[in-house]
Amino acid sequence: MSAKPVDFVAAIRTIPDYPKPGIMFRDITTLLASPETFRAAVDAMVAPYKDEGVALVAGIEARGFILGGALSHQLSAGFVPIRKKGKLPHETIRVAYSLEYGVDEMEMHRDAVAPGTRVLLTDDLIATGGTAEGAVKLLRELGAEIVGACFVIDLPELGGRKRLEDLGVSVKTLVA
Ligand code: AMP
Repeated sequence: MSAKPVDFVAAIRTIPDYPKPGIMFRDITTLLASPETFRAAVDAMVAPYKDEGVALVAGIEARGFILGGALSHQLSAGFVPIRKKGKLPHETIRVAYSLEYGVDEMEMHRDAVAPGTRVLLTDDLIATGGTAEGAVKLLRELGAEIVGACFVIDLPELGGRKRLEDLGVSVKTLVA
């Protein structure tokens, strides 16, 4: 008998009008809190990259850190954080970006990635793709070779996947 497939959609909670009216916030804390769905999500996210020679996983603050740590472990890769401005202690590079509900800046340590390193980018969700595009710019400025970008959730109507694909980055998501 085969195991029942994990229902990732059911594991994610939707909070209407958070953090602003009109935003349907996809809350993955419920998925993370269940051992079954957290493990299944990480297993499904790493599967396409097992033989891709990923040396580093780059996670976008904050939920990308949780996923990125687990993905790094599974891939025997290192982890680098992409953080909101002002949080990293050493010399940084910075990029401005727009997201579904505002604008912000994010940073990486200037020495976080050696040129030519094969990097997998991750975050919980891709909406407009502004955040991920900013992350791609930072990684490319450091000379990273981006193997792909993976997310738990895609909001396809907001066009983020296409935006990344237009930059030459392949995108994988668990649910759309
Ligand atoms: P974007 O830059 O528009 O692709 O937005 C993606 C970033 O904002 C990710 O870091 C998400 O965690 C967060 N985000 C944007 N929209 C939502 C949403 N509807 N629910 C949860 N997180 C979101």
